[in-house]
Amino acid sequence: MLENLLKRGNCFKLVCGAGNEEIEEVKRLVYIYALAGCRFFDLSANKDVILAAKEALKETNINDAYLCVSVGIKGDPHSNKAVINYDRCVNCASCESICPQNAIHYAKVKKNKCIGCGRCWKVCPRSAISYVSEEKKLDEVLPEIIKEGIDCIEFHVVGQDENEIFSKWHYIKENFDGLLSICICRTKLSDEALIDRISRMTKDRQPYSTIIQADGFPMSGGKDDFQSTLQAVATSQIVNNANLPIYLLISGGTNSKTSELAKMCQIPYHGIAIGSYARKIVRKYIDRPDFWTNSYIIDEAIEIVKPLIESVSV
Ligand code: SF4
Ligand code: SF4
Repeated sequence: MLENLLKRGNCFKLVCGAGNEEIEEVKRLVYIYALAGCRFFDLSANKDVILAAKEALKETNINDAYLCVSVGIKGDPHSNKAVINYDRCVNCASCESICPQNAIHYAKVKKNKCIGCGRCWKVCPRSAISYVSEEKKLDEVLPEIIKEGIDCIEFHVVGQDENEIFSKWHYIKENFDGLLSICICRTKLSDEALIDRISRMTKDRQPYSTIIQADGFPMSGGKDDFQSTLQAVATSQIVNNANLPIYLLISGGTNSKTSELAKMCQIPYHGIAIGSYARKIVRKYIDRPDFWTNSYIIDEAIEIVKPLIESVSV
């Protein structure tokens, strides 16, 4: 059971990307990380992505892994897709070189690869990049996904629209019996408002039937230093201090230093969810055309990711 994995206190969750709908990339990520020891995978709420992850797990002969799908509210950065205004773009390629997903080629955005991280917008010298929200309608995507068999639904609740948050949360609770996860950060909430929202969302839930994924800065990971992970640990401290009967996962700016910092600060956790940094360290293997035919590539990638997975237990 997923609960048992969390109770051990060293759960590593690979975040493939809530907006990452590049099927082959997800399949390769799941394959490498499963062989290296990961047993919990966070996926886009897309049936084909789930089937790809399941196919990868089948090929590894691993049958004790758990799948989580992520959904959000309107304006959730995880649902955003970059759009380029060609009246302003001067083809400088700054966006292409900064994109962690290799989602931009010759000033064209591949939507299924874009995770809405915002890095391209920050570097564009012509303010030519904006974002469109492509959040999914729960009643359209969830029924067929639940039918495929998943273990957890994660709900991203960045934002102020409480009506939308609570009506969607109600829908999720009514339609799914498994473990639920709330991904929350302090970008738009005070510390007090954050705990208040979590308390109201979990008050009618059974103890330990909810994960709180305490997000530092969403999708801010990429560097492997203490500074990048500071906010993730700080948000976790606030959640931990509330003494709620939940599982706590640290996320949003996580890397191989996260566990060390959390332990130095004496913040207990059930696991760490790592996305940007976890994907970055295997990018050069994932993008290889001979990925499935060259076993050296896979062996090398596994050796690269093992220390990251093991860092959660440090
Ligand atoms: S930098 Fe981020 S937001 Fe921009 S295209 Fe790449 S993944 Fe999308
Ligand atoms: S950074 Fe801006 S101007 Fe440069 S290629 Fe990208 S969209 Fe165009």
